[in-house]
Amino acid sequence: MSPGSFSGGICLSISDANANKPFERIIPSGVVTIPLRQDLGGICNAKVKKGDEVKVGQVIGESAGPEGASIHATVSGKVADVIKAYPHFSGGFVPAVLIESDGKDEWVGLEGSADPMAAIQQAGIVDFDIKPVPLVTKLNEAKSRRANAFIVNAMDIEPVLSSRSRLLSERVQEVACGIDTIKNIIGAASVYVAVDKGASQAMSAVGSACGGAATVVGLNPKYPQAVDLLLVKSILGKEVPCTEAYCVADIGALVLSVETVAAVGRAMADKKPVVDRFITITGANGTGAKNVQVRIGTPIKEVLGHCGISVEGMGKVIAGGPMMGTAIANTETPVTKELLGIFVQNEKDITKSEAAVCIKCGFCVDVCPMQLMPFLISGLSESANYTMAQGYEIFTCIECGCCAYVCPVRIPMVQWIKFGKAQILAQRSSE
Ligand code: SF4
Ligand code: SF4
Repeated sequence: MSPGSFSGGICLSISDANANKPFERIIPSGVVTIPLRQDLGGICNAKVKKGDEVKVGQVIGESAGPEGASIHATVSGKVADVIKAYPHFSGGFVPAVLIESDGKDEWVGLEGSADPMAAIQQAGIVDFDIKPVPLVTKLNEAKSRRANAFIVNAMDIEPVLSSRSRLLSERVQEVACGIDTIKNIIGAASVYVAVDKGASQAMSAVGSACGGAATVVGLNPKYPQAVDLLLVKSILGKEVPCTEAYCVADIGALVLSVETVAAVGRAMADKKPVVDRFITITGANGTGAKNVQVRIGTPIKEVLGHCGISVEGMGKVIAGGPMMGTAIANTETPVTKELLGIFVQNEKDITKSEAAVCIKCGFCVDVCPMQLMPFLISGLSESANYTMAQGYEIFTCIECGCCAYVCPVRIPMVQWIKFGKAQILAQRSSE
């Protein structure tokens, strides 16, 4: 099959030397903080109280509804506290469980279930993507819309992040088991594994592990190729209509990140729930760059310390990558299922936006992979004209940052678009 591409986007080198660095395991020795919401599902109910002894893999937060993802202890030890209001990544506050490690790393396995959907829910698996959704929700959606193409997304999502390529080559047996399970659940007729063309080691590993069960597709590392909506265009040649109402399930596809698929394999074969994240850490100018397997709840400060990265004198610590990440104010913030990577920037490398006027060059329109008019929707958000911004499909924006990247006068379009979306959502919830 000859893979295609999509219009717009930027040709940035996505894969780099980090893809050859094996994951280093980080097991925290102090206190971990585990928020009871780590995806777009609801807040979980605490199943432990202060003073309880817990083991790794024990459920500490259970979803109130049938489709949420459970949350598990990631160290063994004693519950130091259950707090009601911990700052959440996306704003607001959620409850959290604090566990003091006893250093023993004692585990309990999953109960196990013959029903793979139940096993996936018990294991707390989400789709590890920009906006993680509980996996059972995505699978139910795919089943109800009879998705018959299943795409494993092993394309690294941003420049400097390399954990997906690395995971594919290191955990290929888990990935193969996960593919088999998900293919059976949704009844997919075809399976594709999307890999960066440069990641030859990962391509050959998955090719031999899956045999003829999956087609491995090598794609050019064009940013933001790894976004689901663009991946289906490149692989299936199908376009998802650019409106808020459509998603990839509408065109008969299910796209899951390779980390998600590996987690399914681990839950089925080893009865292990999600207690780790597999991410890339990059210090300013590439110093201390590593791929790490880190326990959820570990303070970001400890992860940076493991990589020999000091934040003294640094400009920004960004949760995610350089294009779509969000600067964090506090390095005590824990690793969660939502974290895609960590990127540290020098003070001198930070772009400061001055008040600027659009010169109507059209560069942002040419580069927008969602075929929007970025200057217009950001301007409408800035002037609080939210009705018109919705008319120009502000919610179709995937916040990739390509428009701001090419803007010669450095208009912070993504910030205005994010602000506009937040205002519209606040209005909708008050109605
Ligand atoms: S951030 Fe949104 S508007 Fe800007 S290029 Fe990306 S999709 Fe288009
Ligand atoms: S790239 Fe910047 S200056 Fe050019 S049209 Fe877009 S917003 Fe205006």
